[in-house]
Amino acid sequence: MQELPIVPAEQHIKKPDWLRVKLPIGESYKHVRGLVDKHKLHTICESGNCPNMGECWGEGTATFMILGNICTRSCQFCAVATGRPKPVEWDEPQRVAEAIFLMKVLRLVSCWALEKRKKKSSKL
Ligand code: SF4
Repeated sequence: MQELPIVPAEQHIKKPDWLRVKLPIGESYKHVRGLVDKHKLHTICESGNCPNMGECWGEGTATFMILGNICTRSCQFCAVATGRPKPVEWDEPQRVAEAIFLMKVLRLVSCWALEKRKKKSSKL
C-alpha cells in the first residue's frame, strides 16, 4: 500500500469564497421556504440537492418542479429520486401559480417538468 504524503498545515491553500456554500438564512429564504411548504410544492433545488439553495432562495429565486418529484429516468449525475411517479395532482398548477404570485415574481423563466414516460396501459 502506498502511503499518502503528509502536507504541513501551513501549506494548506485557503478555499476561494465562491466555493463556500452559503447557509440558508434570511427573511427571503424563510419566505420561499414557507411558500414551498405551505403549497406543498417540489423544487429541483431540494430534490436535486443543489448547493446554491441558500443563495438562490435567499434572493427569492427557486425552480419549481411540476408533475411530482419522482423521475422515471435514472441519470447517474442527478440526485432526483427515480421510480414510478405518483398520480398527477391536478391542483398543482394552481398551487404553483399562487406561490409564484406570492413570491412577487416579475418574470417566470422556467419550471422543471420531470420525465414521465407514459405507457399505453398506465395512467399519469
Ligand atoms: S434555482 Fe437553480 S441554481 Fe438556484 S438553488 Fe434552485 S436549482 Fe440550484
